[in-house]
Amino acid sequence: MNRFGSELNKLVNRSLDRHVRLAVTGLSRAGKTAFITSLVNQLMHVSTNPRLPLFSAVREGYLLGAKRVPQVDMHVPKFGYEEGMSALLTSPPAWPSPTRDVSQIRLALRYKPQKGPLKLLQDTATLYLDIVDYPGEWLLDLPLLDMDFVAWSRQQAQVLKGKREELAHDWLAEGEQFDPLAPADEALIERISARFTEYLFKCKAEGGLHWVQPGRFVLPGELAGAPVIQFFPMVWFDKVTEQQLAEAGEDTNAGMLKSRYRYYQQHVVKAFYKEHFAKFDRQIILVDCLQPLNTGPESFNDMRQALDQLMQSFRYGRSSLLKRLFSPRIDKVLFAATKADHVTPEQHPNLVSLLQQLVNEAWQTASFEGIQMDCLSLSSIQATEPGFVDYQGRQVPALRGHTLSGEAKTLFPGDVPRRLPSDEFWQSSEFDFLNFRPLVAQSDEPLPHIRMDKALEYLLGDKLQ
Ligand code: GDP
Repeated sequence: MNRFGSELNKLVNRSLDRHVRLAVTGLSRAGKTAFITSLVNQLMHVSTNPRLPLFSAVREGYLLGAKRVPQVDMHVPKFGYEEGMSALLTSPPAWPSPTRDVSQIRLALRYKPQKGPLKLLQDTATLYLDIVDYPGEWLLDLPLLDMDFVAWSRQQAQVLKGKREELAHDWLAEGEQFDPLAPADEALIERISARFTEYLFKCKAEGGLHWVQPGRFVLPGELAGAPVIQFFPMVWFDKVTEQQLAEAGEDTNAGMLKSRYRYYQQHVVKAFYKEHFAKFDRQIILVDCLQPLNTGPESFNDMRQALDQLMQSFRYGRSSLLKRLFSPRIDKVLFAATKADHVTPEQHPNLVSLLQQLVNEAWQTASFEGIQMDCLSLSSIQATEPGFVDYQGRQVPALRGHTLSGEAKTLFPGDVPRRLPSDEFWQSSEFDFLNFRPLVAQSDEPLPHIRMDKALEYLLGDKLQ
């Protein structure tokens, strides 16, 4: 009877163990790698972690511990937690290297159930937490599913203005002689695609622009060098009409571009949504609002447009593209303004208000059926310490830290606008921050952070009840 009882208990335990897939995304350099490294680190120190007062499971002592366990999806690369920690623990500390593809890490969280059937049946339960990291740029590709090659080419031709047109110069020049109706020339298409890809890279690196399509061209992951990411939009509409382009046969240059585009839609974009996105339960979207404030209005507005596009993936109205593909599961989305330690603490409410403004418009005009949303500001891994300095007889807030080259600095980076910045802000703002290296960390202590506990509470609090 005893043996039977204990077997039954094991069986019940197994069937009651729960599982949550938390997706972490954001445009490149938004702070995904730092966030996941810190999140894992905070949870691994959970039993002795004094830095998580806003996370009720820790505050009230019912989260007992966390450990790393092997991931189940063996085809997804592992998130480099150890590598990140060893960079942070070197002397002087360094930032973890960012990941460029989808990656994953699994933790088992042991807790004392607080309510429901688990509380009656078990003293302790396990929540398996899969944290999945993927580039936000991949979400910019969703609209491609609703556009054929001709419509996409038209749209790309329309955005070739201002800074983008300048950055596209070499690609546009290389394609000048391209005859879309001539027999397919793979080597030529490869060459012009390389210039197109360089243009997309330049948009990000030189232009501070985020809206780049197709997203995989700049973050190809395992697709690097594959023909599926060797095509470009046919933007030279003086050479060919839309109808000619639409009707061009398979064996022409345009035919090859069209078939690669279709392959990309089906096997890259759709596959990501079906294999990964469809399985996420919770989502955090990290946004670096401060870098575009440093760079200027074009970069800021472009980030806003990229965020609008990115949010389309969470619109699950009945006729939405994703609902037609599968039924998405995400029920909570958290937007987090990262690197809050770049500005002094009294600016944090402004940072949240700015982020709310950035996402609210899109949020309110769309149908996000059954999804809860919230915004906060955080610093995954603190690099500065706040304090005050004496300025003309007054105590003013300031930040102290070491620059990436090791120089000790104390500064006030400026005011964060509460609302979307006006022309006046851009003309008069002296907003300027420096990149600091992370604060010195100890291997037996959790990493210093700001409001990671608030993020944990929002994302996991109810799952640990
Ligand atoms: P990813 O491309 O989204 O994975 O971005 P990373 O996590 O690699 O972050 C990009 C850079 O942002 C890092 O190298 C740091 O310089 C900076 N960063 C990220 N998180 C923080 C933070 O919490 N505080 C500060 N000061 N800088 C951060």
